[in-house]
Order: sequence, then C-alpha cells, then structure tokens
Amino acid sequence: MNSRISEQLNRELNLQINKEFYSGYLYLAMSDYFNKEHLYGFAHWCKKQSEEELSHGMDIFEFLDDLNGHVEFMQISQPQTNFQSPLETVKAIAIHEEHITQSLKQIAIMAKEENTFAIISFLKDMLNEQHEEEKSAFKIYSKYKMFGENKAALYLLDKELGER
Ligand code: MG
Repeated sequence: MNSRISEQLNRELNLQINKEFYSGYLYLAMSDYFNKEHLYGFAHWCKKQSEEELSHGMDIFEFLDDLNGHVEFMQISQPQTNFQSPLETVKAIAIHEEHITQSLKQIAIMAKEENTFAIISFLKDMLNEQHEEEKSAFKIYSKYKMFGENKAALYLLDKELGER
C-alpha cells in the first residue's frame, strides 16, 4: 500500500515525534530538579507532563503508521539539567510549550497548503490540546512570578500542582 502522506509532511511529523519524546525527557529532568528543590508538587506536575508528551509522540507514531507513512526514529537530545532556579525553570516550561505550539502550527499550515484533510483534522485536535498546555504553563509561570517569593503562597501553589 502506498503512503497517504507527502514526503514533506512525513518528515515534519517524524521531527515532531522526536520533539515530543524530547519534551518527555525534558520534563523528567525538570521533575528531578524540583524534587531536589523540595517542590514536590511541581515535580509531580512535570512527571505528569512528561507522560503527556510521550503519549503525544505515540499518537503521531500511530497516526503515521495508519497513513502507511515512514517512521524514522531520530536521536533524542540530552535535556538541560543545570536549571538556575524554580522561577527560571517554570519560565523555561512556558517558553518550551510556546515553541511546541509554533512547531505544530507550522505543520498545520503545510497540511493546509497541501489540503490533506486527514492530517489537518489530526493536527487540529493536537493543536487544541497544545493550546491548553501552553495556557496552563503560562498560568503557572504567572502565579510563580506573583507569589513565588512568599513561602506560604509557594507552598499552596506547590500543593495545587501536586493535585494534577
Ligand atoms: Mg506535547
């Protein structure tokens, strides 16, 4: 059976699989960092987020398989581990999510140009979810900026994230 996806989109989706798995790695590294900072709720949130990212990678993998596309497993980069502070780390989360949204958007634009309906609808679902992730990442960053200096408030924020 022939592939039902263009070479260009296939390549972009392979790159996106790699980005999602890298994200999973990055969030695990952040989880480890937060644990060491005794921010166990943040650590828990990052671990959950890592699972989310890995499942996004799996979704794309399965989608490519369904289209009889070519799946290529590229090397996953080592994530950053020298986080400067909890605030810098939550900022990095927000920036990372923004970056992933942009990446998915680029693929969606390509799919639209090619008028590939199955891919457009798949990406639409992914983008909707991604927008939510970006929104919650920025909320955490804003809350940290507002209240992070206050230990009692930080304790509550950590508790909130631990309930994810
Ligand atoms: Mg993701």
